[in-house]
Amino acid sequence: MIRQYELVERVRDYDPDINENLLNRAYVFSMKVHGKQKRASGDPYFSHPLEVAGILTHMKMDSDTIITALLHDTIEDTIATPEQIEELFGANVARMVDGVTKLSELTYSSESAKQADNFRKFLLAMSHDIRVLLVKLADRLHNMRTLTHIKKLEKRVRIARETLDIYAPLAERIGMQEVKEELEALAFPHVYPSAYESILKRMDQIHANTEGIKDTVIAELERLLADAGIEAEVFGREKRLYSIWRKMTYRHVSLDDQADIIAFRIIVDDAETCYRVLGVVHGQWQAIPGLIKDYISMPKPNGYQSFHTAVLGPGKKRIEIQIRSSEMDAVAEQGVAAHWIYKQHSSETEGAQYKWLRDLLEIMEHADSPDEFLEHTRLAMYQNQVFCFTPKGMLVNLPQGSTVVDFAYAVHTEVGDSCVGGKVNGHPVPLRTRLVNGDQVEILRSTAQQPSPNWLGFVITGKAKAAIRRFISHKKKQEYQALGKSLLERAFKLEDREFNDKALTLCAKKLQLGTITEIYEQVGKGELSDRKILETIYPGIKLNGHYSFPLPKMIDTGLNHKGGDHQIPIRGLTPGLAVHMSDCCHPIMGDRIVGIVTTGKGIMVHTIDCEALDVYSDTPESWLDLSWLVPEDKNSIFLSRIEVLLEHFPGALAVVLNVVAREKGNISNIKFIERAPELFRITLDIEVRDVKHLTSIIAALRVNERVSSVERAFR
Ligand code: MN
Repeated sequence: MIRQYELVERVRDYDPDINENLLNRAYVFSMKVHGKQKRASGDPYFSHPLEVAGILTHMKMDSDTIITALLHDTIEDTIATPEQIEELFGANVARMVDGVTKLSELTYSSESAKQADNFRKFLLAMSHDIRVLLVKLADRLHNMRTLTHIKKLEKRVRIARETLDIYAPLAERIGMQEVKEELEALAFPHVYPSAYESILKRMDQIHANTEGIKDTVIAELERLLADAGIEAEVFGREKRLYSIWRKMTYRHVSLDDQADIIAFRIIVDDAETCYRVLGVVHGQWQAIPGLIKDYISMPKPNGYQSFHTAVLGPGKKRIEIQIRSSEMDAVAEQGVAAHWIYKQHSSETEGAQYKWLRDLLEIMEHADSPDEFLEHTRLAMYQNQVFCFTPKGMLVNLPQGSTVVDFAYAVHTEVGDSCVGGKVNGHPVPLRTRLVNGDQVEILRSTAQQPSPNWLGFVITGKAKAAIRRFISHKKKQEYQALGKSLLERAFKLEDREFNDKALTLCAKKLQLGTITEIYEQVGKGELSDRKILETIYPGIKLNGHYSFPLPKMIDTGLNHKGGDHQIPIRGLTPGLAVHMSDCCHPIMGDRIVGIVTTGKGIMVHTIDCEALDVYSDTPESWLDLSWLVPEDKNSIFLSRIEVLLEHFPGALAVVLNVVAREKGNISNIKFIERAPELFRITLDIEVRDVKHLTSIIAALRVNERVSSVERAFR
């Protein structure tokens, strides 16, 4: 284990702003709260945060990050609280510890590449401070180094697979080649044991063949450079088993084709010298055309700089050579971390963590499409996205502002079409609820549900919008067809003619319509009259009935209806037709209701006993069967009217208003019908939730001794 003074010394070496006192305190605190906890290896648990801190000192991280590393498991695994951390170590450290804890709580459980990519983006989006991500990577690195101590095979494989899918690519994304390669090397044998074994065996043979050549080339290069007066370090680079295997599986490059290539690296002081080295190498050996890459003047998206060339070396063996400065080498191995170390003291006004973030942003923004990644999206885009989970842990990636309905449609169109509600993190929420990062969303479904035009008022994803529109137009068609069919049935009955498909098929032909349903639809829409149909089928017929009930011409699609806020929770409406609560009977939720299709006004909703319905008694085809739905939001408001007869005394009105207010009714209008010397007769328009609500108001008024009578008013 790293001793306390050792750790402090290491940080002091590179961080002049070190807070030694705080670092010491974190060491002691973590050791104390982890107490007698043990790792799977049998080591004291504290050795883990300490090693993680150690890894981060190699990356030369600032002392806040080292402190965070020491404390990173205290919230999850010990009695320490976030408040305590903040009090002892400040808001900054507390925020970072919280960030690492949150990342650790996320479990990735999927084998699909798309999900892995989503999850990586999610981790990036959740790591508001890039240092949080680095602590997490260091944490994973140490866990991988000690993975063999975990006894359960399944768990080992799961952790190793997650490392290959998520953490190694993330490390690469931010340019930390060294960490990436170590993670891959550690995970490979656990995830693909047989592939690992066979490659390892072949590598032994290959090494035996190339070992001699490697030493020869190094010696030769060193001599050449010394002759040219160039100071340089020369390395022969070990092949990475996992990257060989990847090349074999994804790029179909056989092991033999990869085997005779040996990679060398020459490290010099500065960029200028790199070009001189190149001259020396090409002067000695023949360069292979097409393999020279100048990443020094054109760095890779993740900041990588180096010169690559390939030559026919001693014995005409193909060798690859990378030439770079020591700073470039550090960047290549440690990525953003190195960038920062080299530059951190050049700009003094900027806080270190912002510099970090900006560097990362730049890297992300310039990423075009190296094939290491399945898909590239700019970091800026992650901030416009929310990442939510299904109850089974599948990640769903949505644009910011997405609602429960968007989520449902993202999962599956059928799920969207039938959603009636949602639970976010276990709590029931309205469908319009906007989701935030990390929400776990469960969709409640019902076969009775249908997409509502009102949803268009709040969904934001194209998929949801298209599906809802499609459904509505389909639904509307069906309603027209049903309406048209019933109109025709009635007309045929009036004329004592048999209503059958044969006649209608003939008629469709004559009218050059494709099918019977098209006739129904056109009649339903009012584009064709029932009269016209009869006359087409029976030319010269003398009609005695009244036909062509005037159908509503205004077909408001409802799609442009912005005020989707106030949904009328009625079942049986024709989507797209305007709906009005009639002001003769003021139907409210709970009343038995019926709809009347009228010209120009769409559907008027009446109570079943409304006198106004008498007018429509002989046009049954204009009646619509309606019933109330339990509304998705309990905030529906209905206007109702009551008539009150009360004693005439000072403050009489105030009594009534108080009673109504106490019952939480909102009075929107008062009208005096009669002012007799002893009595007032007034009507009150009250906003209520439903019949029950109105009944309770009426009851409360009736028990008041100054109120003579209270009745619901229907006109
Ligand atoms: Mn840990």
